[in-house]
Amino acid sequence: MANQVKISQLLPYLKGSVRGQITKIRYSRSDKRMEPTSIFIPRQESKDLTKKPFLNHNFGVTSKSYYDSQKLVASALFNRIRKIDINTCQEKDIAPFYVCDLGELKRLAVKLRKCLPRIHPFYAVKCNNDSRLLRAIADLGFGFDCASKEEIDQIISENISPSRIIYANPCKSIPHLRHAKDVRVALTTVDNLDELVKINKFHPSCGILIRILTDDSSSTCPLSVKFGASLKYAKEMIDACKSLDLDLKGIAFHVGSGCNNFNTFAKAVQDSRELFNYAERQGFKMNILDVGGGFAKFSLEQSSIILRNALDSFFPEAENPELIIISEMGRYFSSSCFTLAANIISKRSDPQKERLYLNDGVYGNLNCILYDHQLVQPKVLTSGGQFKYFDNLGTKENHVNSQKTYSIWGPTCDGLDCIISRIKLPYEVEIGDWLYFENAGAYTSVAATSFNGFKSNFTCIYVNSEY
Ligand SMILES: *Cc1c(COP(=O)(O)O)cnc(C)c1O
Repeated sequence: MANQVKISQLLPYLKGSVRGQITKIRYSRSDKRMEPTSIFIPRQESKDLTKKPFLNHNFGVTSKSYYDSQKLVASALFNRIRKIDINTCQEKDIAPFYVCDLGELKRLAVKLRKCLPRIHPFYAVKCNNDSRLLRAIADLGFGFDCASKEEIDQIISENISPSRIIYANPCKSIPHLRHAKDVRVALTTVDNLDELVKINKFHPSCGILIRILTDDSSSTCPLSVKFGASLKYAKEMIDACKSLDLDLKGIAFHVGSGCNNFNTFAKAVQDSRELFNYAERQGFKMNILDVGGGFAKFSLEQSSIILRNALDSFFPEAENPELIIISEMGRYFSSSCFTLAANIISKRSDPQKERLYLNDGVYGNLNCILYDHQLVQPKVLTSGGQFKYFDNLGTKENHVNSQKTYSIWGPTCDGLDCIISRIKLPYEVEIGDWLYFENAGAYTSVAATSFNGFKSNFTCIYVNSEY
């Protein structure tokens, strides 16, 4: 049976017009050149972030419903798969693909501005380095957190000024550090004395933020096991900056990616204040506080209350008119912009629990399961060729057709390549059907491998629900 999706299945949902635009781009790792665009993205350079507050407008975001954006994502998913005949298709026709809604990015920016109006975001490139996403972030006027020469070069190749880059890797190789100097990246984080000596030798004019430890024990991806200076050690570093005559500008921290205990923000801000005071007594003009990452869309309201209160008590605006507060948000901006679709290539029937095999897994775009400890939730895109996307959205109890339990696996021959060991799907699915994953933009495509010969080439279709 050819699992073809019929256009008539989508039409009832698309009454009225779908606002926004769809554009399709082939994207593969071996060929990073981006093809053209039916979304117009002006290439204007925004003002130097470190001088000017970033948001004085709402990016043209209108108060549109979540549902409109979903319609646009649905039509992109639908258009990509509807012509596929599973019996005659090529491998590339059923390859996993993303749909990226750049309008979501704008909505996230607006939400951030409401919750944390004092913060200038620097997007953490390591989270998702999709070129169109980076371009769209640049056009919002944000800066970038780069951790390597490669990431720095990617930003500069987008015609973005190096003044908008923070080189936020506390342990840099000497060639990378020299490169940062050559291309005029002028701000970095440091958490140890040896690094200060290195900077003094290879990039002495670089602005410095001392990265301090946080209690990130409750984060899903703690970072303080690897980076961060204690308060006592940070003071030694401040003394060293003084004797080396380095340009100390402020303090940085990161509460851990996938942060769950936002009180960590309060303690980190308090510690930063103590170090600001210490450094100011040494004559430094401290004017940058970097509150790092650890934010997520679903918890922003919660995390921002704690952070905002801490900032307002330890760094009140009135008493710190020169202070620039930046963040290094990765997950917050990229996760919900992307939806990933993957094809069911095989199935093993078992009366207890059927096993499904997808053409994407933990060695591909779903490496976030291993590296980022994400719990992914596959949803049924098609069931026996029927387009089910909208059935997953509404408030209606649609989830009654079937309650078959599945385990879902990636395409490699490794037993570790398990996407989810037990899930009840509301519809029966067959070989040739599609599953999809929402919120698939953070720590996914960036770390995909070609283990076992399954190359991580993928397509991304861009839509824009806010233009
Ligand atoms: C990974 C990382 C980030 C991004 O963290 P998120 O939790 O994804 O926002 C920011 N800064 C540094 C230094 C990082 O290592």
